[in-house]
Amino acid sequence: MKDWGDTLKRLEKFKKYSAKTLAIHGGQSADPITGSVMAPIYQTSTYAQSDFAKPLGEFEYSRCQNPSRRILEDALALIEGGNFGLATSSGMGAISLVMSFLSAGDEIICGDDVYGGTYRYLSQVLSRYKIKAHFVDFSKIEEDENFLDQFDFNKVKMIWLETPTNPLLKIFDIEKITQYAKKKKCLVSVDNTFATPIFQNPLALGADFVVHSLTKYVGGHSDTVAGAVIVKDEDLAEKLYFEQKNVGPICPPFDSWLLTRSLKTLAVRMRAHEENAQKVAEYLEKSPHVEKVVYPGLENHPQHALAKKQMHGFGGMLSFYIKGDLEKTKAFVKNLKLVLLAESLGGVESLIEHPATMTHASIPKELREENGISDNLLRLSVGIESLDDILQDFEDALKPL
Ligand SMILES: *Cc1c(COP(=O)(O)O)cnc(C)c1O
Repeated sequence: MKDWGDTLKRLEKFKKYSAKTLAIHGGQSADPITGSVMAPIYQTSTYAQSDFAKPLGEFEYSRCQNPSRRILEDALALIEGGNFGLATSSGMGAISLVMSFLSAGDEIICGDDVYGGTYRYLSQVLSRYKIKAHFVDFSKIEEDENFLDQFDFNKVKMIWLETPTNPLLKIFDIEKITQYAKKKKCLVSVDNTFATPIFQNPLALGADFVVHSLTKYVGGHSDTVAGAVIVKDEDLAEKLYFEQKNVGPICPPFDSWLLTRSLKTLAVRMRAHEENAQKVAEYLEKSPHVEKVVYPGLENHPQHALAKKQMHGFGGMLSFYIKGDLEKTKAFVKNLKLVLLAESLGGVESLIEHPATMTHASIPKELREENGISDNLLRLSVGIESLDDILQDFEDALKPL
């Protein structure tokens, strides 16, 4: 028995629906016994069997599969345009499952502006297993289609993309990179945490894996840590399930249930985040205390046109540079009353953080500064509070600087 059951058959009846509908109904149906519209939380570790190795239903043991997790996985697979979803204990759990495709001697090309944990995993953990990572600025492919020719694709087995990137919101051309990778028989994984499936669908653009930290926008309420991998291809899915079963990074039943609930409002939340983010970006651009604002929805963003083409929305994340040094940047953040200083992002509440000392502190200082993560950079996850209240909080915090 396969751990994922007959996924293709289960998902087929939903495939005609759009992402907005799938977020609400994907993989779900009323309980045939009780009529319950919402699925219960299957808080169980094991499942009764009628005879030796004959489970009553499709489930044997909850590390391998669990009904609550399966509902979330099916919903995520559908909304991303994939066939198989795996829900994991965290975004890093999902990332480690995909990277388990690499063996000693293999190499990976990764964006140079990635989530700090991804950088740390490659540089401090996988390096011990003789897997070598190269960190590059994929936007170079815009000027030179063959700029990745410098790498030895007998060794490079995977390209790791994050777009928009964290924290500098660079946009990479997923289609162009996957087309190049296919010629080299190299797998492509896209971390779609920032855009969410509502604003970007990497599988449709040729990616092999989509990875999410569900902790962020999909969870949306800053109350759950989880992750996911979604693929179209059954062979890839099989290897992922095998790895997950062996290593054990699974999303627990209650968290799966919470995330299935959160997913239902993802489409409306993303529109609200985006609407506020655009306005906050425009406001900050005009402030004399702000040196520069980075938001893909601003026309002066270097890849604004690409973002418009590749994404269905610009998202709720923006970064900006305070005019001044670390002390001034700190003073500004201390003045904020509504916007909270915290790591993480994608919740309904606005959160601000300081990449250089918080999320990206594990990146060596020279590399960090070379990439633009300087001491006066702040990353803002724009929440869905009243826009007027957010703008007033910024106004009150910037004025005394
Ligand atoms: C937070 C984050 C991760 C890691 O996810 P966790 O759920 O914290 O393990 C990976 N990628 C991106 C882009 C993130 O923002």
